[in-house]
Amino acid sequence: MRELVRAGIGRAGSVRDGRRVLGPDEDAFTLAATALERVRGPRFGDRTPVRVTVLGSLPPATDWAISVVLERPVEVVRSVSGAEGFDRALEEARAGPSGDAVVLAVVAGGAETASCDGVLPTADGERDDAAVAVWFGERGAARSGEALRVGDTAGGPLALASELYRTAVREGRDGSWGGPWSVTPPEGPTVEPSKLRALADLRPTAVSEGAYVPRPRYLENLPSRWNFAAERCRTCGTTTFPSRGRCRSCDRAEGLETVGLPTDGALVVATTVIGSGAQPTEFDPQVGALGAYGVVLAEVAPGVRVTLQLTDASPGEVRIGDRVDTRLRRLYPMEGEWRYGRKAVPRRPPPRSSG
Ligand SMILES: [Zn+2]
Repeated sequence: MRELVRAGIGRAGSVRDGRRVLGPDEDAFTLAATALERVRGPRFGDRTPVRVTVLGSLPPATDWAISVVLERPVEVVRSVSGAEGFDRALEEARAGPSGDAVVLAVVAGGAETASCDGVLPTADGERDDAAVAVWFGERGAARSGEALRVGDTAGGPLALASELYRTAVREGRDGSWGGPWSVTPPEGPTVEPSKLRALADLRPTAVSEGAYVPRPRYLENLPSRWNFAAERCRTCGTTTFPSRGRCRSCDRAEGLETVGLPTDGALVVATTVIGSGAQPTEFDPQVGALGAYGVVLAEVAPGVRVTLQLTDASPGEVRIGDRVDTRLRRLYPMEGEWRYGRKAVPRRPPPRSSG
């Protein structure tokens, strides 16, 4: 018997007709990644496999990527979609014998929305493009005060997940439940439908590819680029990012410990706008569809800076001294698949409570 430890949501970053909809660089996988990041718990501390039950049409090709996002080995199981399937998956995850289990439901795009009917209602009855992840652990595994009791909500786990989602929407928060809510931009930018379609409709195989980035090079150091995984030297205390298997200060290769740097709240120290023609050629399709984009240099931890493309914002919207959060998003199509990486999103204040 497991207990409910954490739950988290990932909502699409753009707004159209009052609904959250996929932005040009989002898809079912990026929504899932955002929800999963919010429930994964202590960083890089545990290598025991997690059972992940997936509802909604997350491509099977992304199974390996779920493991990277969760920083654990995973066993992925596909389940029947819809409210009934979600409810059953939650009950099965709770009743399971031992170890950790996650139920992940993804609603993205019109056709899929119907198949997940009832799973993710919003406050006003409209459906968003979103993902919800619910983490179950062995009894006693939850830290004090963190465990959620399924019995707290009449109607079982589904009602609890729905209530979680409604509460998040009502309070203008994205984030997770089970620790403190992580406050993130509650309102995305309103986007033109033509721009939404422009990139969302691209198929990786149909796109002329720019600079060739071989898959092995893309996969190399993926935890560093996706999760901001760094190495802390036990001898001299220096943090090396991205990870390179050696301490950047004392050059030792032994005694390095993998740690996760914060993925939210980075301080912007420089900004630039990449105009059409100045982009690396793998970004040609994006610039062709959307035009110029912003890039920020941000400090994610003391002395650790990372260059990030800006998304969910106009190119000059973020200034030096601002804080940005980061999300896993589509970068560019290559070799018949989308390549993903972290991008910066602006921190916007929550909307005033409507009571
Ligand atoms: Zn060192």
